[in-house]
Amino acid sequence: MDNKLLDILVCPLCNSKLTYIKQPKQLVCRFDRLSFSFDEDIPVLLPESGKSLTNEELENLNE
Ligand SMILES: [Zn+2]
Repeated sequence: MDNKLLDILVCPLCNSKLTYIKQPKQLVCRFDRLSFSFDEDIPVLLPESGKSLTNEELENLNE
């Protein structure tokens, strides 16, 4: 994913920077513990589209 694009993407809930995870492809907000998926190559950054992650899932993410 384009690093420039990643720099401007923020969490729709808290406006903090998102962490890009390659496998499986997703964007993660560590503050809200939410995972945002991609539709084709477009990240779906809607508040209601975030999927909650457990602490364990957060720790096991491959950045
Ligand atoms: Zn957030």
